Amino acid sequence: MILGCIADDFTGATDLANTLTRRGMHTVQTIGIPQGAAPAADAVVVALKSRTIPAAEAVAQSLAACRWLKAHGARQIFFKYCSTFDSRDQGNIGPVADALLDELGSRFTIACPAFPENGRTIYLGHLFVGGDLLSDSSMRNHPLTPMRDANLVRVLGRQTPHKVGLVPYRTVKQGAPAIAGAFATLEAEGVRHAIVDAVEDRDLENIGAASSALPLITGGSGVAIGLPASYRMARLIPKREGAEPLARVGGPGVVLSGSCSAATLGQVERFAAMHPAIAIDPEALADKPEDTVSALLGWAREKLTSGPALIYASAPPEKVAAVQARFGREKAGEMIEHAIAALATGLAAEGVRRFVIAGGETSGAVVSALKVEALEIGPQIAPGVPACLSYGSPRYALALKSGNFGGPDFFAEALEALT
Ligand code: ADP
Repeated sequence: MILGCIADDFTGATDLANTLTRRGMHTVQTIGIPQGAAPAADAVVVALKSRTIPAAEAVAQSLAACRWLKAHGARQIFFKYCSTFDSRDQGNIGPVADALLDELGSRFTIACPAFPENGRTIYLGHLFVGGDLLSDSSMRNHPLTPMRDANLVRVLGRQTPHKVGLVPYRTVKQGAPAIAGAFATLEAEGVRHAIVDAVEDRDLENIGAASSALPLITGGSGVAIGLPASYRMARLIPKREGAEPLARVGGPGVVLSGSCSAATLGQVERFAAMHPAIAIDPEALADKPEDTVSALLGWAREKLTSGPALIYASAPPEKVAAVQARFGREKAGEMIEHAIAALATGLAAEGVRRFVIAGGETSGAVVSALKVEALEIGPQIAPGVPACLSYGSPRYALALKSGNFGGPDFFAEALEALT
Protein backbone atom coordinates (compact mmCIF):
# COMPACT_ATOMS: atom_id res chain seq x y z
CA MET A 1 0.00 0.00 0.00
CA ILE A 2 1.31 3.43 -0.94
CA LEU A 3 -1.51 5.73 0.05
CA GLY A 4 -3.70 5.24 3.11
CA CYS A 5 -6.88 7.30 3.13
CA ILE A 6 -9.36 8.11 5.85
CA ALA A 7 -12.68 9.49 4.60
CA ASP A 8 -15.20 11.13 6.92
CA ASP A 9 -18.17 9.75 5.03
CA PHE A 10 -18.98 6.94 2.65
CA THR A 11 -19.78 8.83 -0.53
CA GLY A 12 -16.69 10.93 0.03
CA ALA A 13 -14.68 7.74 0.26
CA THR A 14 -16.03 6.47 -3.06
CA ASP A 15 -15.41 9.86 -4.63
CA LEU A 16 -11.74 9.67 -3.60
CA ALA A 17 -11.44 6.00 -4.61
CA ASN A 18 -12.90 6.99 -7.99
CA THR A 19 -10.29 9.71 -8.51
CA LEU A 20 -7.40 7.42 -7.61
CA THR A 21 -8.74 4.55 -9.74
CA ARG A 22 -9.26 6.77 -12.79
CA ARG A 23 -5.70 7.99 -12.50
CA GLY A 24 -4.30 4.47 -12.48
CA MET A 25 -4.03 3.49 -8.81
CA HIS A 26 -5.52 0.17 -7.86
CA THR A 27 -7.82 1.24 -5.02
CA VAL A 28 -10.06 -0.59 -2.58
CA GLN A 29 -12.57 1.10 -0.31
CA THR A 30 -13.23 -0.51 3.04
CA ILE A 31 -16.23 0.20 5.23
CA GLY A 32 -14.62 1.04 8.53
CA ILE A 33 -11.32 -0.54 9.56
CA PRO A 34 -10.98 -3.99 7.98
CA GLN A 35 -11.12 -6.92 10.37
CA GLY A 36 -9.10 -9.32 8.27
CA ALA A 37 -6.06 -9.03 6.02
CA ALA A 38 -5.28 -5.81 4.18
CA PRO A 39 -6.66 -5.79 0.64
CA ALA A 40 -3.94 -5.94 -2.02
CA ALA A 41 -4.02 -2.43 -3.49
CA ASP A 42 -1.95 0.70 -4.15
CA ALA A 43 -4.41 2.72 -2.11
CA VAL A 44 -6.91 1.79 0.56
CA VAL A 45 -9.69 4.22 1.46
CA VAL A 46 -11.14 3.54 4.90
CA ALA A 47 -14.66 4.95 4.92
CA LEU A 48 -15.79 6.26 8.29
CA LYS A 49 -19.03 7.99 9.18
CA SER A 50 -17.34 10.61 11.30
CA ARG A 51 -18.38 13.91 9.79
CA THR A 52 -21.06 14.82 12.28
CA ILE A 53 -20.34 12.61 15.30
CA PRO A 54 -18.80 14.22 18.43
CA ALA A 55 -15.25 15.44 17.69
CA ALA A 56 -13.61 13.15 20.28
CA GLU A 57 -15.17 10.09 18.63
CA ALA A 58 -14.19 11.27 15.16
CA VAL A 59 -10.62 11.69 16.40
CA ALA A 60 -10.55 8.23 18.01
CA GLN A 61 -11.90 6.51 14.87
CA SER A 62 -9.59 8.44 12.54
CA LEU A 63 -6.55 7.64 14.68
CA ALA A 64 -7.46 3.95 14.71
CA ALA A 65 -7.77 4.01 10.91
CA CYS A 66 -4.45 5.85 10.60
CA ARG A 67 -2.67 3.29 12.80
CA TRP A 68 -4.13 0.42 10.79
CA LEU A 69 -3.09 2.00 7.48
CA LYS A 70 0.45 2.73 8.73
CA ALA A 71 0.75 -0.80 10.11
CA HIS A 72 -0.14 -2.09 6.64
CA GLY A 73 2.50 -0.09 4.86
CA ALA A 74 0.91 3.26 3.94
CA ARG A 75 3.64 5.80 3.16
CA GLN A 76 1.35 8.78 3.10
CA ILE A 77 -1.99 9.47 4.81
CA PHE A 78 -4.85 11.35 3.18
CA PHE A 79 -7.71 12.70 5.28
CA LYS A 80 -10.66 13.20 2.94
CA TYR A 81 -13.63 15.44 3.68
CA CYS A 82 -16.29 17.04 1.55
CA SER A 83 -15.51 19.50 -1.23
CA THR A 84 -17.93 21.88 0.49
CA PHE A 85 -15.88 21.59 3.73
CA ASP A 86 -18.92 20.21 5.61
CA SER A 87 -18.20 20.73 9.31
CA ARG A 88 -19.24 22.70 12.36
CA ASP A 89 -17.31 25.07 14.62
CA GLN A 90 -16.53 22.22 17.01
CA GLY A 91 -15.14 20.14 14.15
CA ASN A 92 -14.55 17.65 12.92
CA ILE A 93 -12.01 18.66 10.27
CA GLY A 94 -9.70 20.65 12.58
CA PRO A 95 -9.58 18.21 15.52
CA VAL A 96 -9.06 15.17 13.27
CA ALA A 97 -6.32 16.86 11.21
CA ASP A 98 -4.55 17.97 14.42
CA ALA A 99 -4.71 14.47 15.91
CA LEU A 100 -3.41 12.87 12.70
CA LEU A 101 -0.52 15.34 12.54
CA ASP A 102 0.43 14.46 16.12
CA GLU A 103 0.13 10.76 15.37
CA LEU A 104 2.38 11.06 12.32
CA GLY A 105 4.91 13.27 14.12
CA SER A 106 4.34 16.03 11.59
CA ARG A 107 3.89 19.77 12.09
CA PHE A 108 2.30 20.86 8.83
CA THR A 109 -0.45 19.88 6.45
CA ILE A 110 -2.63 21.39 3.78
CA ALA A 111 -6.40 21.77 3.61
CA CYS A 112 -7.69 21.86 0.05
CA PRO A 113 -11.30 20.86 -0.68
CA ALA A 114 -11.21 22.20 -4.29
CA PHE A 115 -12.90 20.02 -6.94
CA PRO A 116 -13.07 22.14 -10.12
CA GLU A 117 -14.79 19.43 -12.19
CA ASN A 118 -17.73 19.76 -9.78
CA GLY A 119 -17.53 23.54 -9.51
CA ARG A 120 -15.71 23.75 -6.17
CA THR A 121 -12.89 26.26 -6.43
CA ILE A 122 -10.90 28.19 -3.84
CA TYR A 123 -9.64 31.73 -4.34
CA LEU A 124 -7.94 33.72 -1.59
CA GLY A 125 -9.13 31.11 0.85
CA HIS A 126 -12.78 31.53 -0.17
CA LEU A 127 -14.64 28.45 -1.32
CA PHE A 128 -16.97 28.79 -4.29
CA VAL A 129 -19.70 26.35 -5.30
CA GLY A 130 -20.29 27.02 -8.98
CA GLY A 131 -20.63 30.78 -9.24
CA ASP A 132 -21.58 31.32 -5.59
CA LEU A 133 -19.61 31.70 -2.41
CA LEU A 134 -20.12 28.60 -0.24
CA SER A 135 -22.13 30.75 2.19
CA ASP A 136 -24.54 31.80 -0.60
CA SER A 137 -24.90 28.27 -1.98
CA SER A 138 -27.53 25.73 -0.99
CA MET A 139 -24.99 24.50 1.60
CA ARG A 140 -26.18 27.30 3.89
CA ASN A 141 -29.30 25.17 4.47
CA HIS A 142 -27.68 21.74 4.84
CA PRO A 143 -29.66 19.66 7.38
CA LEU A 144 -26.57 18.65 9.42
CA THR A 145 -23.71 21.01 8.55
CA PRO A 146 -25.03 24.38 7.40
CA MET A 147 -22.08 26.32 5.93
CA ARG A 148 -22.54 30.06 6.42
CA ASP A 149 -18.95 31.29 6.07
CA ALA A 150 -16.99 30.87 2.82
CA ASN A 151 -13.62 31.96 4.24
CA LEU A 152 -11.92 28.64 4.95
CA VAL A 153 -9.03 30.21 6.86
CA ARG A 154 -11.62 31.54 9.27
CA VAL A 155 -13.75 28.35 9.26
CA LEU A 156 -10.80 26.08 10.01
CA GLY A 157 -9.42 28.66 12.44
CA ARG A 158 -12.49 28.09 14.61
CA GLN A 159 -11.79 24.34 14.67
CA THR A 160 -8.15 24.31 15.77
CA PRO A 161 -6.08 26.11 18.41
CA HIS A 162 -3.20 26.23 15.89
CA LYS A 163 -2.30 28.75 13.22
CA VAL A 164 -4.11 28.49 9.85
CA GLY A 165 -2.45 30.05 6.81
CA LEU A 166 -3.04 30.44 3.07
CA VAL A 167 -1.15 29.57 -0.10
CA PRO A 168 -2.70 32.16 -2.43
CA TYR A 169 -3.47 31.62 -6.09
CA ARG A 170 -0.60 33.85 -7.26
CA THR A 171 1.78 31.27 -5.73
CA VAL A 172 -0.20 28.20 -6.81
CA LYS A 173 -0.20 29.27 -10.45
CA GLN A 174 3.62 29.37 -10.43
CA GLY A 175 3.71 25.57 -10.13
CA ALA A 176 4.85 22.82 -7.79
CA PRO A 177 8.24 24.20 -6.68
CA ALA A 178 6.70 27.57 -5.71
CA ILE A 179 3.92 25.79 -3.82
CA ALA A 180 6.41 23.56 -1.97
CA GLY A 181 8.41 26.71 -1.13
CA ALA A 182 5.28 28.33 0.32
CA PHE A 183 4.66 25.23 2.46
CA ALA A 184 8.18 25.49 3.91
CA THR A 185 7.78 29.22 4.63
CA LEU A 186 4.41 28.76 6.29
CA GLU A 187 5.67 25.86 8.39
CA ALA A 188 8.65 27.97 9.52
CA GLU A 189 6.16 30.69 10.55
CA GLY A 190 4.37 28.21 12.78
CA VAL A 191 1.39 27.62 10.49
CA ARG A 192 0.05 24.12 10.99
CA HIS A 193 -2.75 24.07 8.39
CA ALA A 194 -2.51 25.82 5.03
CA ILE A 195 -5.61 26.42 2.96
CA VAL A 196 -4.43 26.14 -0.65
CA ASP A 197 -6.16 28.04 -3.45
CA ALA A 198 -7.04 26.02 -6.56
CA VAL A 199 -9.30 26.84 -9.49
CA GLU A 200 -8.49 24.20 -12.07
CA ASP A 201 -7.21 20.64 -12.30
CA ARG A 202 -3.73 21.81 -13.27
CA ASP A 203 -3.48 23.58 -9.90
CA LEU A 204 -4.41 20.36 -8.13
CA GLU A 205 -1.81 18.41 -10.10
CA ASN A 206 0.82 20.91 -8.96
CA ILE A 207 -0.42 20.86 -5.37
CA GLY A 208 -0.29 17.04 -5.44
CA ALA A 209 3.30 17.12 -6.70
CA ALA A 210 4.27 19.71 -4.07
CA SER A 211 2.69 17.57 -1.33
CA SER A 212 4.54 14.36 -2.11
CA ALA A 213 6.74 14.69 0.97
CA LEU A 214 3.96 15.57 3.42
CA PRO A 215 3.11 12.72 5.80
CA LEU A 216 -0.49 13.99 5.87
CA ILE A 217 -2.61 15.61 3.18
CA THR A 218 -6.15 16.80 3.93
CA GLY A 219 -8.74 17.81 1.39
CA GLY A 220 -11.39 16.80 -1.07
CA SER A 221 -10.93 14.17 -3.71
CA GLY A 222 -9.66 16.82 -6.15
CA VAL A 223 -6.32 17.25 -4.42
CA ALA A 224 -5.69 13.51 -4.97
CA ILE A 225 -5.59 14.14 -8.73
CA GLY A 226 -1.87 14.85 -8.63
CA LEU A 227 -0.84 11.97 -6.37
CA PRO A 228 -0.84 8.96 -8.74
CA ALA A 229 1.45 10.78 -11.17
CA SER A 230 3.96 11.62 -8.46
CA TYR A 231 3.93 8.01 -7.20
CA ARG A 232 4.54 6.85 -10.77
CA MET A 233 7.41 9.30 -11.17
CA ALA A 234 8.92 7.90 -7.97
CA ARG A 235 8.40 4.38 -9.43
CA LEU A 236 6.20 3.38 -6.53
CA ILE A 237 3.38 2.23 -8.81
CA PRO A 238 3.37 0.86 -12.37
CA LYS A 239 1.55 2.49 -15.27
CA ARG A 240 -2.07 1.34 -15.27
CA GLU A 241 -5.24 2.14 -17.16
CA GLY A 242 -8.32 3.44 -15.34
CA ALA A 243 -11.22 1.40 -13.92
CA GLU A 244 -12.20 -2.02 -15.27
CA PRO A 245 -15.90 -2.85 -15.83
CA LEU A 246 -17.51 -4.58 -12.84
CA ALA A 247 -19.11 -8.03 -12.76
CA ARG A 248 -22.87 -8.10 -13.37
CA VAL A 249 -25.30 -8.75 -10.51
CA GLY A 250 -28.66 -8.31 -12.34
CA GLY A 251 -32.20 -8.07 -10.98
CA PRO A 252 -34.34 -5.05 -10.11
CA GLY A 253 -32.82 -1.68 -9.21
CA VAL A 254 -33.91 0.74 -6.49
CA VAL A 255 -33.11 4.37 -5.73
CA LEU A 256 -33.15 5.37 -2.04
CA SER A 257 -32.68 9.06 -1.38
CA GLY A 258 -32.12 10.75 1.98
CA SER A 259 -30.24 13.72 0.60
CA CYS A 260 -31.95 17.12 0.72
CA SER A 261 -29.27 18.87 -1.32
CA ALA A 262 -30.39 21.01 -4.24
CA ALA A 263 -28.99 18.67 -6.92
CA THR A 264 -30.75 15.68 -5.36
CA LEU A 265 -34.09 17.48 -5.20
CA GLY A 266 -33.84 18.04 -8.97
CA GLN A 267 -32.87 14.40 -9.55
CA VAL A 268 -35.80 13.16 -7.46
CA GLU A 269 -38.21 15.35 -9.41
CA ARG A 270 -36.81 14.22 -12.77
CA PHE A 271 -36.84 10.52 -11.91
CA ALA A 272 -40.28 10.66 -10.26
CA ALA A 273 -41.76 12.16 -13.44
CA MET A 274 -40.99 8.95 -15.35
CA HIS A 275 -40.87 6.16 -12.73
CA PRO A 276 -42.81 5.02 -9.67
CA ALA A 277 -41.74 7.12 -6.69
CA ILE A 278 -42.93 7.46 -3.11
CA ALA A 279 -42.03 9.93 -0.35
CA ILE A 280 -41.29 8.85 3.22
CA ASP A 281 -43.55 10.78 5.58
CA PRO A 282 -41.50 11.77 8.67
CA GLU A 283 -44.65 12.19 10.79
CA ALA A 284 -45.84 8.66 9.99
CA LEU A 285 -42.33 7.35 10.58
CA ALA A 286 -42.10 8.94 14.03
CA ASP A 287 -45.55 7.66 14.89
CA LYS A 288 -45.30 4.09 13.59
CA PRO A 289 -41.80 3.32 12.33
CA GLU A 290 -42.22 -0.38 11.61
CA ASP A 291 -45.62 -0.08 9.93
CA THR A 292 -44.36 2.78 7.79
CA VAL A 293 -41.31 0.86 6.62
CA SER A 294 -43.30 -2.28 5.87
CA ALA A 295 -45.90 -0.28 3.91
CA LEU A 296 -43.09 1.22 1.82
CA LEU A 297 -41.63 -2.25 1.28
CA GLY A 298 -45.00 -3.51 0.13
CA TRP A 299 -45.25 -0.62 -2.32
CA ALA A 300 -41.74 -1.34 -3.66
CA ARG A 301 -42.41 -5.08 -4.02
CA GLU A 302 -45.30 -4.33 -6.32
CA LYS A 303 -43.58 -1.62 -8.37
CA LEU A 304 -40.29 -3.46 -8.84
CA THR A 305 -41.98 -6.17 -10.88
CA SER A 306 -42.18 -3.73 -13.78
CA GLY A 307 -39.00 -1.63 -13.45
CA PRO A 308 -36.96 0.54 -11.09
CA ALA A 309 -38.54 2.63 -8.32
CA LEU A 310 -37.58 5.50 -6.03
CA ILE A 311 -38.20 5.91 -2.30
CA TYR A 312 -37.17 9.28 -0.93
CA ALA A 313 -37.15 11.42 2.20
CA SER A 314 -35.58 14.29 0.28
CA ALA A 315 -37.46 17.51 0.87
CA PRO A 316 -36.91 21.25 0.30
CA PRO A 317 -35.37 23.43 3.05
CA GLU A 318 -38.67 24.69 4.50
CA LYS A 319 -40.00 21.14 4.93
CA VAL A 320 -36.71 19.95 6.44
CA ALA A 321 -36.78 22.91 8.84
CA ALA A 322 -40.32 21.99 9.93
CA VAL A 323 -39.35 18.34 10.53
CA GLN A 324 -36.25 19.42 12.45
CA ALA A 325 -38.23 21.89 14.56
CA ARG A 326 -40.56 19.04 15.54
CA PHE A 327 -38.07 16.23 16.17
CA GLY A 328 -34.68 17.95 16.54
CA ARG A 329 -32.00 18.03 13.86
CA GLU A 330 -30.05 14.94 14.91
CA LYS A 331 -33.13 12.91 15.79
CA ALA A 332 -34.84 13.66 12.49
CA GLY A 333 -31.70 12.73 10.56
CA GLU A 334 -31.21 9.52 12.51
CA MET A 335 -34.83 8.47 12.25
CA ILE A 336 -34.83 8.87 8.47
CA GLU A 337 -31.42 7.24 7.99
CA HIS A 338 -32.64 4.35 10.08
CA ALA A 339 -35.76 3.94 7.97
CA ILE A 340 -33.82 4.05 4.70
CA ALA A 341 -31.36 1.47 6.06
CA ALA A 342 -34.30 -0.75 7.05
CA LEU A 343 -35.76 -0.37 3.56
CA ALA A 344 -32.43 -1.41 2.04
CA THR A 345 -32.14 -4.53 4.20
CA GLY A 346 -35.79 -5.38 3.56
CA LEU A 347 -35.31 -5.08 -0.19
CA ALA A 348 -32.03 -7.02 -0.06
CA ALA A 349 -33.85 -9.83 1.77
CA GLU A 350 -36.21 -9.95 -1.20
CA GLY A 351 -33.32 -10.27 -3.63
CA VAL A 352 -32.66 -6.68 -4.71
CA ARG A 353 -28.95 -6.28 -5.47
CA ARG A 354 -28.75 -2.95 -7.37
CA PHE A 355 -29.01 0.18 -5.20
CA VAL A 356 -28.54 3.85 -6.00
CA ILE A 357 -28.22 5.76 -2.73
CA ALA A 358 -28.36 9.56 -2.55
CA GLY A 359 -26.78 11.26 0.45
CA GLY A 360 -23.50 10.81 2.26
CA GLU A 361 -24.90 10.02 5.69
CA THR A 362 -27.68 8.04 4.08
CA SER A 363 -25.18 5.94 2.13
CA GLY A 364 -23.25 5.28 5.32
CA ALA A 365 -26.38 4.02 7.03
CA VAL A 366 -27.34 1.78 4.11
CA VAL A 367 -23.92 0.28 3.48
CA SER A 368 -23.52 -0.52 7.19
CA ALA A 369 -26.98 -2.08 7.32
CA LEU A 370 -26.17 -4.24 4.29
CA LYS A 371 -23.01 -5.36 6.13
CA VAL A 372 -20.82 -4.40 3.20
CA GLU A 373 -17.15 -4.61 4.25
CA ALA A 374 -15.32 -3.42 1.15
CA LEU A 375 -15.99 -2.10 -2.34
CA GLU A 376 -14.40 -2.64 -5.71
CA ILE A 377 -14.39 0.60 -7.68
CA GLY A 378 -15.66 0.55 -11.27
CA PRO A 379 -16.14 3.12 -14.03
CA GLN A 380 -17.30 6.63 -13.23
CA ILE A 381 -21.03 7.41 -13.55
CA ALA A 382 -20.71 11.15 -12.89
CA PRO A 383 -17.80 13.22 -11.58
CA GLY A 384 -17.11 11.96 -8.05
CA VAL A 385 -19.43 8.95 -8.31
CA PRO A 386 -18.20 5.56 -9.55
CA ALA A 387 -20.14 2.34 -9.93
CA CYS A 388 -19.14 0.05 -7.04
CA LEU A 389 -19.44 -3.64 -6.36
CA SER A 390 -19.31 -5.00 -2.84
CA TYR A 391 -16.95 -7.83 -1.96
CA GLY A 392 -18.34 -10.82 -0.06
CA SER A 393 -21.66 -12.50 -0.51
CA PRO A 394 -24.13 -11.45 -1.75
CA ARG A 395 -22.52 -8.89 -4.03
CA TYR A 396 -24.33 -5.57 -4.37
CA ALA A 397 -23.93 -3.11 -7.22
CA LEU A 398 -23.97 0.31 -5.56
CA ALA A 399 -23.85 3.95 -6.56
CA LEU A 400 -23.24 6.13 -3.51
CA LYS A 401 -23.96 9.73 -4.38
CA SER A 402 -22.95 12.68 -2.29
CA GLY A 403 -25.73 15.30 -2.11
CA ASN A 404 -24.77 17.81 -4.73
CA PHE A 405 -23.17 15.46 -7.23
CA GLY A 406 -24.59 14.26 -10.53
CA GLY A 407 -26.64 15.87 -13.28
CA PRO A 408 -30.47 15.94 -13.41
CA ASP A 409 -30.70 12.40 -14.89
CA PHE A 410 -28.23 10.87 -12.45
CA PHE A 411 -30.61 8.24 -11.02
CA ALA A 412 -31.45 6.77 -14.44
CA GLU A 413 -27.80 6.95 -15.51
CA ALA A 414 -26.68 5.19 -12.36
CA LEU A 415 -29.23 2.38 -12.73
CA GLU A 416 -28.01 1.85 -16.26
CA ALA A 417 -24.38 1.73 -15.09
CA LEU A 418 -25.14 -0.74 -12.27
CA THR A 419 -25.57 -3.92 -14.19
P1 ADP B 1 -26.13 14.96 1.61
O1 ADP B 1 -25.11 14.10 0.95
O2 ADP B 1 -27.04 15.68 0.66
O3 ADP B 1 -25.52 15.88 2.65
P2 ADP B 1 -26.92 13.22 3.77
O4 ADP B 1 -27.55 11.88 3.65
O5 ADP B 1 -25.46 13.26 4.16
O6 ADP B 1 -27.14 13.98 2.39
O7 ADP B 1 -27.65 14.11 4.84
C1 ADP B 1 -29.01 14.38 4.77
C2 ADP B 1 -29.59 14.26 6.17
O8 ADP B 1 -30.90 14.80 6.14
C3 ADP B 1 -29.72 12.81 6.62
O9 ADP B 1 -29.40 12.71 7.99
C4 ADP B 1 -31.20 12.52 6.38
O10 ADP B 1 -31.70 11.49 7.22
C5 ADP B 1 -31.81 13.86 6.71
N1 ADP B 1 -33.12 14.04 6.07
C6 ADP B 1 -33.55 13.48 4.93
N2 ADP B 1 -34.80 13.86 4.64
C7 ADP B 1 -35.17 14.68 5.64
C8 ADP B 1 -36.37 15.39 5.91
N3 ADP B 1 -37.43 15.31 5.10
N4 ADP B 1 -36.41 16.14 7.02
C9 ADP B 1 -35.34 16.22 7.85
N5 ADP B 1 -34.18 15.58 7.65
C10 ADP B 1 -34.10 14.81 6.56
